[in-house]
Amino acid sequence: MPDSTPASEPADAPASRQPTVGVLALQGDVREHLRMLTEAGARAVAVRRPAELEAVDGLVVPGGESTTMWKLAEIFELLEPLRMRVKAGMPAYGSCAGMIMLADRIEDGIAGQQTIGGIDMVVRRNAFGRQVDSFEADLDFAGEDVHAVFIRAPWVESVGPDVDVLGRAQPGDRIVAVRQGPLLATSFHPELTGDTRVHRYFVDMVREL
Ligand code: GLN
Repeated sequence: MPDSTPASEPADAPASRQPTVGVLALQGDVREHLRMLTEAGARAVAVRRPAELEAVDGLVVPGGESTTMWKLAEIFELLEPLRMRVKAGMPAYGSCAGMIMLADRIEDGIAGQQTIGGIDMVVRRNAFGRQVDSFEADLDFAGEDVHAVFIRAPWVESVGPDVDVLGRAQPGDRIVAVRQGPLLATSFHPELTGDTRVHRYFVDMVREL
Protein backbone atom coordinates (compact mmCIF):
# COMPACT_ATOMS: atom_id res chain seq x y z
CA MET A 1 0.00 0.00 0.00
CA PRO A 2 1.52 3.38 -0.92
CA ASP A 3 2.24 5.48 2.12
CA SER A 4 1.82 9.20 1.51
CA THR A 5 2.21 10.08 5.17
CA PRO A 6 5.41 12.02 5.91
CA ALA A 7 7.95 9.96 7.85
CA SER A 8 7.79 12.40 10.76
CA GLU A 9 4.08 11.70 11.30
CA PRO A 10 3.28 8.00 10.91
CA ALA A 11 -0.35 7.21 10.10
CA ASP A 12 -0.71 5.49 13.45
CA ALA A 13 0.65 8.48 15.38
CA PRO A 14 -1.08 8.59 18.75
CA ALA A 15 -3.55 11.42 19.27
CA SER A 16 -1.06 12.87 21.74
CA ARG A 17 1.32 13.55 18.84
CA GLN A 18 -0.88 14.45 15.92
CA PRO A 19 -4.52 14.72 16.96
CA THR A 20 -7.26 14.70 14.35
CA VAL A 21 -9.09 17.98 14.64
CA GLY A 22 -12.28 18.63 12.69
CA VAL A 23 -13.71 21.91 11.48
CA LEU A 24 -17.49 22.06 11.43
CA ALA A 25 -18.01 22.67 7.71
CA LEU A 26 -21.65 23.69 7.42
CA GLN A 27 -20.93 27.36 6.80
CA GLY A 28 -18.30 29.98 7.54
CA ASP A 29 -14.51 30.29 7.25
CA VAL A 30 -13.72 26.58 7.21
CA ARG A 31 -10.69 26.60 4.91
CA GLU A 32 -8.78 29.14 6.99
CA HIS A 33 -9.20 27.03 10.14
CA LEU A 34 -8.15 23.83 8.33
CA ARG A 35 -4.96 25.57 7.20
CA MET A 36 -4.17 26.98 10.65
CA LEU A 37 -4.80 23.62 12.36
CA THR A 38 -2.47 21.90 9.91
CA GLU A 39 0.20 24.52 10.62
CA ALA A 40 -0.41 23.97 14.34
CA GLY A 41 0.45 20.27 13.95
CA ALA A 42 -2.98 18.64 13.77
CA ARG A 43 -4.47 16.38 11.11
CA ALA A 44 -7.28 18.74 10.02
CA VAL A 45 -10.51 17.41 8.49
CA ALA A 46 -13.84 18.93 7.49
CA VAL A 47 -16.88 17.66 9.43
CA ARG A 48 -20.30 17.64 7.78
CA ARG A 49 -21.77 14.32 8.89
CA PRO A 50 -22.27 12.58 12.24
CA ALA A 51 -19.85 9.79 11.20
CA GLU A 52 -17.16 12.39 10.48
CA LEU A 53 -17.77 13.96 13.88
CA GLU A 54 -17.25 10.61 15.58
CA ALA A 55 -13.80 10.31 14.01
CA VAL A 56 -12.25 13.50 15.40
CA ASP A 57 -10.36 14.11 18.66
CA GLY A 58 -11.43 17.75 18.79
CA LEU A 59 -13.52 20.23 16.80
CA VAL A 60 -13.33 23.86 15.68
CA VAL A 61 -16.63 25.67 15.20
CA PRO A 62 -15.73 28.47 12.79
CA GLY A 63 -16.87 32.05 12.38
CA GLY A 64 -19.71 32.73 10.01
CA GLU A 65 -23.33 33.24 10.93
CA SER A 66 -24.61 31.42 13.99
CA THR A 67 -28.28 31.50 12.92
CA THR A 68 -27.43 29.77 9.62
CA MET A 69 -25.03 27.37 11.31
CA TRP A 70 -27.71 26.37 13.82
CA LYS A 71 -30.32 25.77 11.08
CA LEU A 72 -27.88 23.76 8.95
CA ALA A 73 -26.79 21.72 11.99
CA GLU A 74 -30.41 20.74 12.50
CA ILE A 75 -30.97 19.95 8.80
CA PHE A 76 -27.76 17.84 8.68
CA GLU A 77 -28.82 16.12 11.93
CA LEU A 78 -25.65 17.26 13.64
CA LEU A 79 -26.98 19.39 16.48
CA GLU A 80 -27.73 16.51 18.86
CA PRO A 81 -24.54 14.58 18.02
CA LEU A 82 -22.56 17.80 18.58
CA ARG A 83 -24.22 18.33 21.95
CA MET A 84 -23.55 14.74 22.95
CA ARG A 85 -19.86 14.84 22.04
CA VAL A 86 -19.36 18.15 23.84
CA LYS A 87 -21.14 16.73 26.90
CA ALA A 88 -18.89 13.67 26.71
CA GLY A 89 -15.82 15.92 26.95
CA MET A 90 -14.65 16.41 23.35
CA PRO A 91 -12.37 19.49 23.16
CA ALA A 92 -13.96 22.21 21.04
CA TYR A 93 -12.93 25.70 20.02
CA GLY A 94 -15.47 28.24 18.76
CA SER A 95 -14.45 31.51 17.13
CA CYS A 96 -16.99 34.32 16.71
CA ALA A 97 -20.17 32.57 15.48
CA GLY A 98 -18.54 29.45 16.94
CA MET A 99 -18.33 31.17 20.33
CA ILE A 100 -22.08 31.80 20.10
CA MET A 101 -22.60 28.11 19.24
CA LEU A 102 -20.69 26.98 22.37
CA ALA A 103 -22.59 29.30 24.73
CA ASP A 104 -25.15 27.87 27.13
CA ARG A 105 -27.17 31.09 26.83
CA ILE A 106 -27.32 33.85 24.20
CA GLU A 107 -28.72 37.38 23.98
CA ASP A 108 -29.96 39.00 20.77
CA GLY A 109 -30.36 35.69 18.96
CA ILE A 110 -33.21 35.26 16.48
CA ALA A 111 -36.48 33.67 17.62
CA GLY A 112 -35.88 30.06 18.65
CA GLN A 113 -32.13 30.19 17.99
CA GLN A 114 -30.37 27.24 19.58
CA THR A 115 -26.76 26.49 20.34
CA ILE A 116 -24.60 23.44 20.98
CA GLY A 117 -23.79 24.88 24.41
CA GLY A 118 -21.19 23.62 26.85
CA ILE A 119 -19.68 26.83 28.20
CA ASP A 120 -21.50 28.31 31.19
CA MET A 121 -21.73 31.85 29.81
CA VAL A 122 -24.09 34.39 28.30
CA VAL A 123 -22.92 35.61 24.86
CA ARG A 124 -24.40 38.69 23.23
CA ARG A 125 -24.65 38.32 19.47
CA ASN A 126 -23.41 41.21 17.26
CA ALA A 127 -22.51 43.06 20.46
CA PHE A 128 -19.53 44.98 19.08
CA GLY A 129 -21.29 45.14 15.73
CA ARG A 130 -23.67 47.80 16.88
CA GLN A 131 -20.75 50.08 17.72
CA VAL A 132 -18.12 49.13 15.17
CA ASP A 133 -18.85 46.54 12.49
CA SER A 134 -15.31 45.32 12.43
CA PHE A 135 -12.11 46.34 14.14
CA GLU A 136 -8.69 45.08 15.12
CA ALA A 137 -7.06 45.24 18.52
CA ASP A 138 -3.93 44.05 20.29
CA LEU A 139 -4.86 42.13 23.38
CA ASP A 140 -3.60 39.65 25.91
CA PHE A 141 -4.72 36.08 25.19
CA ALA A 142 -3.74 33.66 27.96
CA GLY A 143 -0.61 35.70 28.66
CA GLU A 144 0.40 36.22 25.01
CA ASP A 145 0.07 39.47 23.02
CA VAL A 146 -2.10 38.75 19.99
CA HIS A 147 -3.47 40.91 17.20
CA ALA A 148 -7.20 40.19 17.14
CA VAL A 149 -9.63 40.72 14.25
CA PHE A 150 -13.29 41.25 15.17
CA ILE A 151 -16.09 41.04 12.57
CA ARG A 152 -19.66 41.72 13.78
CA ALA A 153 -18.37 40.05 16.88
CA PRO A 154 -20.15 38.85 19.98
CA TRP A 155 -18.89 39.51 23.48
CA VAL A 156 -19.33 37.52 26.66
CA GLU A 157 -21.80 39.23 29.01
CA SER A 158 -21.20 36.98 31.98
CA VAL A 159 -19.53 33.70 32.92
CA GLY A 160 -20.20 31.00 35.49
CA PRO A 161 -17.73 30.03 38.23
CA ASP A 162 -15.98 27.31 36.19
CA VAL A 163 -15.11 29.58 33.27
CA ASP A 164 -11.64 31.15 32.98
CA VAL A 165 -11.44 34.52 31.24
CA LEU A 166 -8.46 34.41 28.84
CA GLY A 167 -8.84 37.78 27.14
CA ARG A 168 -10.59 41.14 27.14
CA ALA A 169 -10.88 43.92 24.55
CA GLN A 170 -11.80 47.56 24.23
CA PRO A 171 -14.20 49.18 23.87
CA GLY A 172 -15.53 48.38 27.31
CA ASP A 173 -12.95 45.86 28.52
CA ARG A 174 -15.33 43.15 27.35
CA ILE A 175 -14.61 39.45 27.76
CA VAL A 176 -13.59 38.08 24.34
CA ALA A 177 -11.79 34.81 25.16
CA VAL A 178 -12.80 32.09 27.61
CA ARG A 179 -12.02 28.52 28.53
CA GLN A 180 -14.04 26.00 30.48
CA GLY A 181 -12.18 22.68 30.74
CA PRO A 182 -11.87 21.26 27.20
CA LEU A 183 -13.87 24.12 25.65
CA LEU A 184 -12.32 27.30 24.27
CA ALA A 185 -14.01 30.31 22.65
CA THR A 186 -12.89 33.64 21.20
CA SER A 187 -14.93 36.56 19.84
CA PHE A 188 -12.14 37.20 17.35
CA HIS A 189 -10.80 35.37 14.29
CA PRO A 190 -7.21 34.13 14.76
CA GLU A 191 -7.55 32.15 11.51
CA LEU A 192 -7.41 35.45 9.57
CA THR A 193 -4.12 36.78 10.95
CA GLY A 194 -1.52 34.14 10.03
CA ASP A 195 -0.62 33.83 13.74
CA THR A 196 -1.07 30.18 14.74
CA ARG A 197 -0.71 30.59 18.51
CA VAL A 198 -4.43 30.35 19.37
CA HIS A 199 -4.74 27.23 17.20
CA ARG A 200 -1.59 25.80 18.82
CA TYR A 201 -3.11 26.50 22.22
CA PHE A 202 -6.21 24.53 21.17
CA VAL A 203 -4.28 21.66 19.57
CA ASP A 204 -2.31 21.38 22.84
CA MET A 205 -5.65 21.17 24.68
CA VAL A 206 -6.65 18.29 22.39
CA ARG A 207 -3.27 16.58 22.96
CA GLU A 208 -3.73 16.85 26.72
CA LEU A 209 -6.78 14.64 26.57
N1 GLN B 1 -22.68 37.98 13.86
C1 GLN B 1 -22.40 36.62 13.53
C2 GLN B 1 -23.37 35.65 14.19
O1 GLN B 1 -24.29 36.02 14.84
C3 GLN B 1 -21.01 36.24 13.92
C4 GLN B 1 -20.01 36.98 13.04
C5 GLN B 1 -18.78 36.20 12.72
O2 GLN B 1 -18.68 34.99 12.96
N2 GLN B 1 -17.85 36.87 12.10
O3 GLN B 1 -23.18 34.48 14.03
